[in-house]
Order: sequence, then structure tokens, then C-alpha cells
Amino acid sequence: MKTIRSMVIVSGDPVSLQRGASELMQALQKEIKAFDLADEITVAMASDLGRHDALPLVVVYPDAVVYGPVQPSQARLLVEEHLYKGRVAEALLAPVRELSGTIAWLRARKGTLPAEQRIVLRRAGLIDPESIDDYILHDGYQALGKALTTMTPAEVIDEITRSGLQGRGGAGFPTGRKWSFVAGAPGQPKYVICNADESEPGTFKDRLILEGDPHSIIEAMVIAAYAVGASEGYIYIRGEYTLAYQRLEKAIQQAEEYGLLGDDIFGTGFHFKIHIHSGAGAYICGEETALIESIEGKRGEPRARPPYPPTKGLWGKPTLVNNVETLANVPPIIRSGADWYRSFGTPSSPGTKVYTILGNVNNTGLIEVPMGITLREVITIYAQGMRDGRPLKLFQSGGSSGSIAPASLQDTPMDFESFRKAGVSLGSGALLICDDRTCVVDLAKVLMQFFRFESCGKCTPCRVGTQRSYEILTAITEGTARLEDLDELLRLGEAMETLSNCGLGQTAAVPTRDILKHFRAEVEAHIRLGVCPSGVCPMEKAAVPV
Ligand code: SF4
Repeated sequence: MKTIRSMVIVSGDPVSLQRGASELMQALQKEIKAFDLADEITVAMASDLGRHDALPLVVVYPDAVVYGPVQPSQARLLVEEHLYKGRVAEALLAPVRELSGTIAWLRARKGTLPAEQRIVLRRAGLIDPESIDDYILHDGYQALGKALTTMTPAEVIDEITRSGLQGRGGAGFPTGRKWSFVAGAPGQPKYVICNADESEPGTFKDRLILEGDPHSIIEAMVIAAYAVGASEGYIYIRGEYTLAYQRLEKAIQQAEEYGLLGDDIFGTGFHFKIHIHSGAGAYICGEETALIESIEGKRGEPRARPPYPPTKGLWGKPTLVNNVETLANVPPIIRSGADWYRSFGTPSSPGTKVYTILGNVNNTGLIEVPMGITLREVITIYAQGMRDGRPLKLFQSGGSSGSIAPASLQDTPMDFESFRKAGVSLGSGALLICDDRTCVVDLAKVLMQFFRFESCGKCTPCRVGTQRSYEILTAITEGTARLEDLDELLRLGEAMETLSNCGLGQTAAVPTRDILKHFRAEVEAHIRLGVCPSGVCPMEKAAVPV
């Protein structure tokens, strides 16, 4: 009988796939066979494993050793060392103290690039994130003191509303308005949830905020709770963010010891408790109602809406759900005021935005810049140009479900309003920048593969639509599709957008729709001529004559 002693998981998110995750998986399977281990070890692909700084990843269970980035050529070393000889392949390990590495990189760039505007990341890398004293020395908990001792809850909400802060999780909903909905909703107790289930492929900004400045989120949650009248809060964090989890746990304990969390905060009689809830790897749990279901111990599936969480959320009570980056903006706004905050960014989108820069550029990573900067500026200044001097072909903003836009839109100011007018979504802040060697069909297929994995299956348009769209896109890459299949792709996209229950299904077809809008000739070349103009698709079979 087969006894499986080890399981090897390869990350299969879009960025990993673009970086050769499928080839890596094949190479691992080949080496496992070569070492005669196929009966003891299974290999599988998971759509997203986090750690977007080291893709593609390989996680070996039961030890949960994380390797990354791993190249197909390194599969032999990994199999021989870890799976055959039973010792960790040190050379392939993903950086353990990932924050330190990233922050050191951020610090090293200081003075070498034009200044970013740090509001959210202003302490990251400068303070010891495990020291509440260090946080307090750098203005920490001042905003909480000010809110609780000099402002009424209504004044706090008014300040946030006047600041113009919009949700940084993707939708850009006005934060102050959301807070006022929860404050005005009948029913007790009320809850505040920090959505730290950052699962959008390519996005790791929230992890850095949590790892670099965990007290800022605790402080923001207490302020939010005071404003809306909540007594209990949850941080829902993705399971792979172990360092952030540990630091949050420590921060909560320290804040309780200092009387900044728990009972009678600042001697005002206000009390608030925070729990941490770890996710189990489902992308859909980033959707706020699925997240709430998950906290309640149920399967993470989105609820039908309305009612919305501000009136009927956790345990059926009024609940405020805010993303990590949104919350991280709260203490600075309360401390320095709405007018100060509005001095950054644009009149319709004040403040800054944290972006993750990915793709074919010379410098990838994280930046915090004022709203309204253009992609051209991001590429030129922060990404230090396109890799190998190749021309920009397209960019995708906002993660996997974000819009795909042609290079001609690179001078559009990156703020909610300007992007909306241009038909582009700003989303969570992942900027995938692609050069002329990118095949648009291959890109759309990889993204659809992600959604077909991650669809929770609750509603038919999404469950079937993602699968069928993936099949058509695959057929296009193989030269076996017909021109009328493009009409079916568009029909499927419309059905998914209008009939799906939640944001995943409603937006899964956005990249496909966009490539048909901006790059239709290239898609048709695959079908009509059996040619991939970028030379990416295998085109194994002859094209069907049309
Ligand atoms: Fe689930 Fe997709 Fe329906 Fe959302 S749209 S509920 S992810 S099946």
C-alpha cells in the first residue's frame, strides 16, 4: 500500500505561472520519479500561497518548509536534498525574516530615488515592530488619546469623512460614510473587523504594514470602535502570514498591558477587545461576507446582499469591515487632521497609495506615493525603467481581476476618479507591468485559471463561466478555437458580471473583456493564422480555417 510521507505544494497564482510554476511542477515530478519517490510523495499546485516576494514558491509538508523563488533547474537540488536525503535545501529557502529583508531594501533606497510620500509606511523599517515603546516614541497612540479624550464619536467620524479617505481594499468606498452607517445602525454589540486576508496575487502591501507597524492597526481599530460604538474586534489574517500574526499577537498583548486595549482605555470607561482569526487559504475569504461566515465557523462563502455588514454582519450585528491599508491611514488623519491629509493626492482622491510593482521592470517592490501619480512616473522613477529596454505593452492594475490597459493609458493619473473615467480599476494596488513579449491570450488564460480554482462554486454563472472561459482561452492558445468562440467569451463575461453573487464572479472576466477590447487583432491572429504574435503560446495544433 502507498504511504504518503510528504506533500509538495507549488504556488500556482498568475505571477508564479508567468514565472514558470508549471514547468517547475513538471521538473519536480520528474525528479521525484528519478529518485524513486513517487509512491511516497505527492505534488500538487495551489492557486495562491502568499509570499509574493519569492515566487514561485514550493512548500514541503509536513515540515512546512518554504522555498522560493525556485527555478525548474533547481528542482533536482530540492528533491535530492529535502525529499531524498531528508535535510533542508538551505540555498533555496525563501527569506525567513521577510520583512527585515524588504525593509532593508526600502531603507537602502532612501536618498537614491525621488522621495516617496510615506503616511502608511512611515514607521516601517525605522522602528522595532515588536516594541510598543518604540511605537509610542514615534507618535504612537497619540491619535487614540486625542480621539478618546478630546473628541466625540461623531467628531471622529466627521474628521475621517472630511479627510476624503476611501477604502484601499479595492472598491474605494468612502470610509467615513461606511463608519457612519455602522454608527447609526441599531443593535448591539457592534464589531470592527480588519480584513487582513490579503490574497490578491501580486499584492503584499498589507503584510508589510502588519509586519512593520502592527500597533498602527491596533490603534486604528480602537479609534474605529470608539467612533462606531463597537466593543469587540477581529483581525482576519491569511494563514500564510505567520510573522504578521506573531507580531499582531504581541502587539495586542503589549497594548493590553499598557491599558491601550481592553477595559477602561485611557481611563475613559471605553472598552474594546481584539481577537485574531487565521484564514485557511481561500481567496474568497477576502470578500467581506465570506470572511464573516468564516469567522462564524462556517464555510467561507459570500452571503447574498443586502443586507450589508454595516447593518447585519458578524453574528447578525452591525459590523465595520476595513482593509489594513485603510485602517493604517486613520491614526495620522486623527492626529494631524483632515486638512493635512487632503494636502496629499488629488481633490477627489486624497492621501497616498501603497503599490506593489511587478513584472518586466528593472526594480520591483513596494512604494507609497501620492494619489494621482502616473504609471509612466512609476516605471521611470521607481521601477527604474522597463527591463532590457523593451517597450511597455500593457499593465494590469488592481490584481487578478483588475483591468488590463494598453500603454496609451500610462499617463492617466492613478486616482479613483481618473481611472474610473478611463475605464480602469485602481483596485488593491498591484501593478503588473508587461512588455511586448507578453501574450495577451496567455495572460488572460493564466488569470482565468486562478479564478476557476478560487470560485467557491456557490453560484452557476461563476462556477461554470470561469471553467468554460478557461477552456476557450486554452483552445485559443492551442490554435483550436473558432472566431465565434470570442462571442461566447463575451457572453459568458456579461453573464458572470451581471448574475454572479459576489465580486469574484462579477470581475473574473474583466481581464478577458479588456484584451478583447484593446488587443482583439492579436487574439484573432491566434485563431485565424494559428500564430502567437508574441511567440508565447505553444500553438501545437493547426489553426481551424475560418
Ligand atoms: Fe462563489 Fe463565484 Fe458565486 Fe462568488 S460569484 S459566490 S465566488 S461562485
